[in-house]
Amino acid sequence: MQSQTTSAPKTIETLCQLVLSYDPGADVVQLKKAYQFADAAHAGQKRATGEPYVIHPLATAFTLAEMRLPVSILMAGLMHDVPEDTTRTIEEIETAFGQDVASMVAGITKLGKIKYRGMERYIENLRKMFLAMAADVRVVFIKFADRLHNLETLDAIPPKKQYRIALESLEIFAPIANRLGMGEMKGRLEDAAFKFVYPKEYEWTMNLAKTTRDEKDAYVQKLMKLTEDCLQEAGLKQVAVHGRAKHLYSLYRKLIKNERNITRIYDLIALRVIVSDVADCYAALGIIHSRWTPLKGRIKDYIAQPKPNGYRSLHTTVFCEDGEIVEFQIRTAEMHAEDEFGIAAHWAYDEHGKIRFHSKKGAQPPQWVHDLVNIQQELADKKQFLESLEDLKIDVFHDRIFIFTPKGDVIDLPEDSTCVDLAYAIHTEIGNSCIGAKVNEEVAPLERVLKNGDMVEILVDKSRKGPNPDWIKFVKTRHARIKVRQYARSKIASWIKGILPGGK
Ligand code: MN
Repeated sequence: MQSQTTSAPKTIETLCQLVLSYDPGADVVQLKKAYQFADAAHAGQKRATGEPYVIHPLATAFTLAEMRLPVSILMAGLMHDVPEDTTRTIEEIETAFGQDVASMVAGITKLGKIKYRGMERYIENLRKMFLAMAADVRVVFIKFADRLHNLETLDAIPPKKQYRIALESLEIFAPIANRLGMGEMKGRLEDAAFKFVYPKEYEWTMNLAKTTRDEKDAYVQKLMKLTEDCLQEAGLKQVAVHGRAKHLYSLYRKLIKNERNITRIYDLIALRVIVSDVADCYAALGIIHSRWTPLKGRIKDYIAQPKPNGYRSLHTTVFCEDGEIVEFQIRTAEMHAEDEFGIAAHWAYDEHGKIRFHSKKGAQPPQWVHDLVNIQQELADKKQFLESLEDLKIDVFHDRIFIFTPKGDVIDLPEDSTCVDLAYAIHTEIGNSCIGAKVNEEVAPLERVLKNGDMVEILVDKSRKGPNPDWIKFVKTRHARIKVRQYARSKIASWIKGILPGGK
């Protein structure tokens, strides 16, 4: 994917060539028209880098083309910033290019208005992102491509803004790309953001990776050839072996898990073996195991049991020549495309803009694709949305829990928070006068520890004079603790005032 990016300069002509290479019947006349429209609309505008603005929508369209997406999506990509940043309108786009392209541009414009405002906004951001996705997943592809180019040109903008955009990419965009099975996009977003979120860690990981890569390069080349020969001799046809450079951010995460010890990372040298069908995947695994000794517990069959995001491949780690430990990932070309582009792989060659999946030999789209189609209904209420997030295992909430009030508000609290913490998070008055709670419609004591997704109603008694000082023993949040103490102190103060002569 990246090799295609770097080879040729990015112009509308090279974009058309790239499109025609995977879709010979593509309507490049319309594509050129969309480019001219965007170019004229943005005329005179400059990027922060000083380049003409149209560089940015063009780069966005290139990324979409690398994902082999249909021309209509590329056209929307070319015009994605037009309504927001120029005097030309959605209506004009609709008149010139039709309703479908215009609706994608409208979707991306709406999505652009979502701003990152820290932890408490996560839920809302994610919800909107998923809503947009369920409404039209093509909009999310464009958003990813847009964001990727913004990240790649982040050097030109002020540091504070850099950090915000990069953090948002790392914590919201990348997990969603991962959920959509878009491994390559996830990796590119993370690597581009990494530098700005953790600059020192980035340096460290980069140097480590570079040294290792330089040292092992000749070895990897040799091993690739050896593997290819070995599989062909055994009678496998159509074998391709690629080396795989691990994405920096995912290497960093792995290093952290392994006490920063690079010798404990087993997939530093990783080869991808692409064969023609599933039977050949298993055959290749057998051949590799007869040539080199596999490490115990490192054989993973993600073909029989795909990962939740649809990922399929066979993995094994073996001892190779010179004692090197090498990971092999064995897959078909179709699985490979799915790993790189995820759901987008199913869109290839589909020019009609409807959700229609590209599948060969009667293969069914994976279960998670159906899940995605169904997600819109799940989004109908926030509680179910959170439950679905749990399933999606998007690990952005770390040590936070989200509690629902009967009114449908979502309150974000630290783990192990109690009903009293919640009461104070809603309002000081509610905290001061709470006497009990209903957790998921059952009566519960105030000290009850809440769980993510609980629906909690705080019961109050207006005649209650104030908090119980004993609550200090179990409240979790600083906010609740301060409020309870404050009340106790003000009570003492007014009592002292009351007994002092002339005091009130
Ligand atoms: Mn943009």
